[in-house]
Amino acid sequence: MNKIILKSGREKSLRQHHPWVFSGAIQKVEGNPLAGETVDVLDQKGNFLGKGAWSAHSQIRVRIWSFREEAIDESFFQDRVRAAIRLRRKIFRNNGTTAFRLIASESDGLPGVIVDRYADFLVLQLLSAGAELWKDTIVKILQAEWPSKGIFERSDADVRSKEGLPYRSGLIEGQEPAETVAISENGLNYFVDIRKGHKTGFYLDQRDNRALIGSVCQDSDMLNCFSYTGGFGVAALAAGAGSVLNVDSAASVLELSKKNITLNNLPLGKAEHVEADVFSALRQFRAEDRRFDVIVLDPPKFVKSKAHILKASRGYKDINHLAFSLLRPEGFLFTFSCSGLMPANLFQKIVADAALDAGKTVRIVKLLGQAQDHPIALNFPEGMYLKGLQC
Ligand code: SAH
Repeated sequence: MNKIILKSGREKSLRQHHPWVFSGAIQKVEGNPLAGETVDVLDQKGNFLGKGAWSAHSQIRVRIWSFREEAIDESFFQDRVRAAIRLRRKIFRNNGTTAFRLIASESDGLPGVIVDRYADFLVLQLLSAGAELWKDTIVKILQAEWPSKGIFERSDADVRSKEGLPYRSGLIEGQEPAETVAISENGLNYFVDIRKGHKTGFYLDQRDNRALIGSVCQDSDMLNCFSYTGGFGVAALAAGAGSVLNVDSAASVLELSKKNITLNNLPLGKAEHVEADVFSALRQFRAEDRRFDVIVLDPPKFVKSKAHILKASRGYKDINHLAFSLLRPEGFLFTFSCSGLMPANLFQKIVADAALDAGKTVRIVKLLGQAQDHPIALNFPEGMYLKGLQC
């Protein structure tokens, strides 16, 4: 068995069951582990800390599968997959929602393994060397535990390169999914492009916030910035919004947004789609004196690494400042950050500064986060990445 011995004092986070071992914490590697192979992690005195997957290319050298001395084999993965599925069955019991995250990586005890369900299809995303090594086993278990029409792979996320893994995308087994797959969520329907859409096709983590935002949009003029395929806009129109303006820099996602409105028999005439950079669009709306009752800011991940926090903060401040200026009195701003590296308290402070600069008195009426199918393991606080404020 390959063994990883940690430097003295560096075992503390593992004792607290944090699943990552960074390269700097390692004193010695005994044996010659191959990418993704299981290694025992030990402290200086040879005490067992955990079993994990070796990744020679990543700064995260080991991702722990288990903190117990148990075999990492098919039955181990079966137990973890089953537990993850049981939670989703409880959350979504008979409520008609057909798209959710079945397995959420570290948060479900399976570092690097993401599985999303979109109606009859499963989308698998493998993000670590360990996940990659166990791919066939995971696929076999999924076939047994959650029979589907097809399993499609979307292992094409940036982080793969940090693990020294190539990008891969395509059908693993079963039927080739159509260009768009229709899903249901809280009584609304959406087309999802699981082959090429962002992440695995849809921002499942925003499900609860779609419902919440819809609930305050009746008779409102709603501005949906970074709209992607128009999830928030559909929820707003379904709730009787007077108008919805979707802004995104990608033309293709706006086309899908229009299809999503029609799919739900909602009035396309009440929706406007603008292909633009949000930073300049907001300035233009200000120049045109346009005002809105509800504004959503759901930008992409601005903070890609710790070095980007300052620059990202300026970006968040800018769009939030502009949004406050465009908001009618007593309107709602829903503002998000999906950057795990942006601390919640710093994000709130940026929004506070933005409100002050815009000359607005603002209250937070609700703190927002990711939906329940994106749980946060207490031993892995990094799993809490989506932050939002209803202001
Ligand atoms: N709110 C969406 C998810 C947003 S993802 C939902 O709930 O589904 C971020 C989106 O921002 C992507 O669709 C991307 O195309 C878009 N985007 C990224 N940078 C942008 C910019 N500077 N201006 C406008 N859109 C941008």
